[in-house]
Amino acid sequence: MPRRFLVTAALPYANGKLHVGHVAGAYLPADIFVRYLRSRGDEVAFICGSDDHGVPIQLSAEREGVSPPEVVDRYHASQERDFRGLGIEFDIYGKTMSPRHIATSQAFFQRVYDNGYLKKRNTSQLYDPQAGRFLPDRYVKGTCHHPGCGNPEALGDQCEKCGRTIDPLKLGDPVSVLTGARPEVRDTFHWYFELPRFGERLRAWIEGHPEWRSQVRQFTLGLLKEGLPERAMTRDLGWGVPVPLADPDAGGKVLYVWFDAPIGYVSFTAEWCERTTGRATDYQTWWKDPETSIVHFIGEDNTVFHALIWPAMLLAEGSFELPANVVANCFLNFQFPGKDEEKMSKSRGTAVWIEDYLREFEPEALRYYLTSVAPENQRTAYRADEFVGHTNDELVATLGNFVHRTVTFAHRYFEGKVPAAGDLDPQDRAHLESLRSLPGRVGAEIEGMHFKAGLETIMAEARGANRYFDSKAPWQTRKTDLGSCGRAIHVCLWTARTLATVMAPYLPFAGEKARKMLGLSAGEFVWTRAADPLVAGSSLGAAEILFKKIEKAPGEES
Ligand SMILES: [Zn+2]
Repeated sequence: MPRRFLVTAALPYANGKLHVGHVAGAYLPADIFVRYLRSRGDEVAFICGSDDHGVPIQLSAEREGVSPPEVVDRYHASQERDFRGLGIEFDIYGKTMSPRHIATSQAFFQRVYDNGYLKKRNTSQLYDPQAGRFLPDRYVKGTCHHPGCGNPEALGDQCEKCGRTIDPLKLGDPVSVLTGARPEVRDTFHWYFELPRFGERLRAWIEGHPEWRSQVRQFTLGLLKEGLPERAMTRDLGWGVPVPLADPDAGGKVLYVWFDAPIGYVSFTAEWCERTTGRATDYQTWWKDPETSIVHFIGEDNTVFHALIWPAMLLAEGSFELPANVVANCFLNFQFPGKDEEKMSKSRGTAVWIEDYLREFEPEALRYYLTSVAPENQRTAYRADEFVGHTNDELVATLGNFVHRTVTFAHRYFEGKVPAAGDLDPQDRAHLESLRSLPGRVGAEIEGMHFKAGLETIMAEARGANRYFDSKAPWQTRKTDLGSCGRAIHVCLWTARTLATVMAPYLPFAGEKARKMLGLSAGEFVWTRAADPLVAGSSLGAAEILFKKIEKAPGEES
């Protein structure tokens, strides 16, 4: 029975290009997961898009002296290109400034309001007297107010150092990002989401998922223990989804970007359904059917929103299913030789941009390296000096070499056909026994969201495959015992098929090359048939190099 999965990857703000840190966080693991599910025959929708609203977009537009939609259009297109270049293939890459998204978000907000979970309250807010406007979220910076943090660069909505949400009125030494002025406190009002009413249900839900990554569980259960605050879900801003309420005071206010952004997953699903089936209402199969598993892939800084606020919004709306998993990666730090390790940051100029990477390198090297150092449970570092070794010694010399040498040998000495198996000896049988269990072992790691362990399992098998090839010495037996030589090559081609099938979710471009080299149709190149032997006598495709050697690491001066 095929299972059904709705997989989302966090929406990047449409105000910048993508760098390696983004890809390592949410997008690459999500893509591997989706490709694996599809290879197994499961039904999957893979949803992403740009987050076009919020202060970051408006700030970028103001700094560049253009309109917000102009900023959005430019970066949306660049992000979509970069994802495609890396083989990260969403079913839809939507836009939250689309009319469908705006209507969907307004209807959602209205329903949460009608259900009694949004309350209008007077509040005080920071105001820039020089600019003559309120300073929501990232329009203000200051020192983090959480005990033990002290980050002097905390933004008005969230502290990037400790990951907690910020109350801007509690920031130390607040400064307007627009003018540098010291803000005043003025009265306004907003609609507050009554988050505390969901504390118990959220706790029970998270405790019911022991399989989630421990950092997500610990972080969210810790916040629930402290008690969730009510949160303002509207803003005094010019750019965003207009508050839909009939209340005359709603004029000029927009939804908080973190209210409308996750609804993007829903509106983009509806948009995709309309494009593919002609019925936007089919989105309900993906969002309101308990048979569908909803999986959100995010970076660690999005944990509060995806594992607490968004599920509470879904409960408040009332007709949606809760996510089955919220898979967060930690931050990937970045280190060049002779420099300190730090968080990848465009403001500090320590980012490797995807578009620059793709001009010089193949997508597979980055997909491989980022998975092999994936910050799945703790922060890890991208090390420029390591990148070259991982690519050349592992990807090229171990995995790529095994497939290439096997197919080349079959072309040279067996007329490009799969030789007969003949009678297998105990060494062949032991090798094949391990091989037959490989798809199950790798699949279990991927299902458990242990992408790095899955890749390590594949590489261990690839090393074993090279040892098998070497110990069989087919270059000698072809002169002395052609039957034994053919048997070894038969087993090696079979091994290449299994390795290529299970590596394909990680390394899709190389997987496709290997499929053609092995003479397999797309229907034969699937997870469920990964351990099947190749048919003796069938023709192989031309041998190709799967991965190229590299001379220097991306981002490193030559
Ligand atoms: Zn902090």
